[in-house]
Amino acid sequence: MTHIIERIWKKVNQEERVSKEETLELMNCQEIIEIGKIANFIKEKKNGKRVTYVFNRQINPTNICVLSCKFCDFATKKNKENAYAMTLEEILSQCSQAINEVHIVGGLYAEWPFEYYLNIVKTIHENFPQLQIKAYTAVEIDFFSRREHCSIKEILLKLKEAGLVCLPGGGAEVFSERVRKALFPFKIGANRWLEIHQAAHELGIRSNATLLYGHIETHEERIDHMQKLRDLQDKTKGFLSFIPLAFQPGKGNVTKKQTSSIDDLKTIAIARIFLDNFDHIKSYWVTMGEETASMALNFGADDLDGTIGEEKIMHAADAKSPSFMAKERLEALIRSAKRNPMERDALYNIISEKKEESCAF
Ligand code: SF4
Repeated sequence: MTHIIERIWKKVNQEERVSKEETLELMNCQEIIEIGKIANFIKEKKNGKRVTYVFNRQINPTNICVLSCKFCDFATKKNKENAYAMTLEEILSQCSQAINEVHIVGGLYAEWPFEYYLNIVKTIHENFPQLQIKAYTAVEIDFFSRREHCSIKEILLKLKEAGLVCLPGGGAEVFSERVRKALFPFKIGANRWLEIHQAAHELGIRSNATLLYGHIETHEERIDHMQKLRDLQDKTKGFLSFIPLAFQPGKGNVTKKQTSSIDDLKTIAIARIFLDNFDHIKSYWVTMGEETASMALNFGADDLDGTIGEEKIMHAADAKSPSFMAKERLEALIRSAKRNPMERDALYNIISEKKEESCAF
């Protein structure tokens, strides 16, 4: 066992916080199984053998966007053949009494006033009051606030009043100015993203956080990203989960090859070790693929996301995973990792426990 693994085990056993420098050393360490064991130890201490998932539906109201981020294969312009903008009726037709969460994110469409985006939330809430609405990334919230000439707080309060329960974690990408300038120079950077999530937390709106990895970022930039999230979580305790998103090469504008499964597992494990103040680390099957996502449940992840309905964003970049998943399949993936599946809602409250086939090892 290398020195760094021994040091981290010692710290974890003594419930001491792992530093950024130690985490970077861990990232460069080849002992993936040992790193996984540490992460799994922390995961089980926090969440036992359970792994959660949500019966949900992703809705992307439009793919028309004023920006053209270099890595994005989803967004398009209004005059393009693949452009779409959904009516409220079309959006409502994607909701149902059976699901527990809708996850709404999409393009920044200049022809839709904020009122329309607000109406999406209001209309879903009025028609499906039991459905929890997780909507709009910090990038969208910033867009609404600048267009309306009003504060982030006012925008968030209107959305909350309309029925929003939490924010998704997208749009964070990686908090590096170097990467931002190269891949998404016109999109908000770290400070604005963090300011918006802090404002949400202060209004009692929980949120999630992502990291887009496996493109041009360095290991140090990944850890810096997590450090900024850990610092904000210390202050607000408002984040529900951390979701590492493996970059999908798509048209190959940024990189031709997807990162390896080893890198996926290591990123999940390191997130579990470093983000000691996050309750949940998600293994997002859409970007990692079913098999790796299932393996990650033994490397520190305690959530598998959801059924999704129809995933469009990563599939625009040629993601190889299916675009939706049946509840039974999610549960089978969880059981194949020798974990106990439990259904949750958008706020990670447990809805049901599938005891009949629970496993323990
Ligand atoms: S990443 Fe988001 S903001 Fe950038 S082009 Fe795509 S949809 Fe628009």
